[in-house]
Amino acid sequence: MRVLVVEDEPTAQRVIKMFLERSGYEPVLFDDGQKAFELASSADSPPLIILDWMLPGMDGPSLCKALRAAKPKIRPYVIMLSSKTGKEDVAAGLDAGADDYVSKPFNIGEMQARLRVACRAIQFQHEIQRQLDDNDRLNQRNNLLSEIISKQREQIALAVAPAPSSEVPDSDAFSHEDVRGALTVSVPELRLQLDGVCPCESVPPLDPVFYGAWNAVMVASTKHWTDLLVIGSGETLGYLFEKSLGRAPVNMVESQSFWAELARVVGLGLIRTAELKGRTGVLPMMSRTFPLGLGPQGNLPPLPAQTQAYELSIAGRQILMTLSAQPEAALTVAPKHLRELDILSEAFPPNFASSIPLFKEGAVMTDRFIEKLICREQDLQEEDTVLRVYRPSPLAKFIQRNS
Ligand code: CA
Repeated sequence: MRVLVVEDEPTAQRVIKMFLERSGYEPVLFDDGQKAFELASSADSPPLIILDWMLPGMDGPSLCKALRAAKPKIRPYVIMLSSKTGKEDVAAGLDAGADDYVSKPFNIGEMQARLRVACRAIQFQHEIQRQLDDNDRLNQRNNLLSEIISKQREQIALAVAPAPSSEVPDSDAFSHEDVRGALTVSVPELRLQLDGVCPCESVPPLDPVFYGAWNAVMVASTKHWTDLLVIGSGETLGYLFEKSLGRAPVNMVESQSFWAELARVVGLGLIRTAELKGRTGVLPMMSRTFPLGLGPQGNLPPLPAQTQAYELSIAGRQILMTLSAQPEAALTVAPKHLRELDILSEAFPPNFASSIPLFKEGAVMTDRFIEKLICREQDLQEEDTVLRVYRPSPLAKFIQRNS
């Protein structure tokens, strides 16, 4: 972890630098308060600051106050390190906005413990921020969904399910007919016109400036995990948004949420098609939109060889859709063998065991959920607790981790 050290006294600076390096931290040294403040209030600030009281440019307490007033998205954790040891000095330092106060000369063991406290606080703050960001995205998406639903009311009669096919379930998750049927039902749900669907002989090259909406569909009887991608240009996203909702998107998040919603309704359409053949399906509770060239993390990994691609025409726009099936993704595992991003294929505990499930089917396992399930197993000594899950494909994992 990077630590910003603001200290103007060369010997003290050397001691702190050596101490931090030996304790596994990466010190960034400054001897001027004003310059240090510029870094500390930027997005590139180290998450932790060790701050002297008396400094040229801007003193320690003023730097703390200025940092509070600047309200950066994530405020660095500040340990004030000073030779002022009076109780009123400690109080003044903390009141100025420092998170902790250590007197000079510091004790190595104590300082290491205080850095560990700081690391825990920083980690916690980052987790909260991540959850807030997720909530923000979800809120925007929920508002958009209410808008879509209210526009749909008059149109529900348009969506007519295809007649059940007599086809015997085969090893392929979805046939061309299934796909055509699913799209016929689902695209009008977004008040959009499906002009045509055409299977491609092979997957055309993907343009990295285009956007992909991803979701996955799991069909129980075939034990397949199928990744679904709907790909279009930024211009197409905006055009279809406007066509569907009768207004332009206010920002990119809105048009990306709309695109993710398209992937979700197509996924639901595929599940309904599977259900008409007596199969059961699960849609994971996640869909994502991302640029195909994912930026610094690199491009999308190549799609598996058995990927089926379709050219769709929706409201006169060309869209590419791909389905990549990964067979035998269904597993039964004990909580300790769960992995992050596993998807529950049935509620847990199952319906026959409890009327109030802890997790619904389609729930996406996070490290925190897995921990909770392992603790529960230990508490109740339920050694034979097992969960039915789908293990995500490499593509699903890549998208979840990079978008
Ligand atoms: Ca000083």
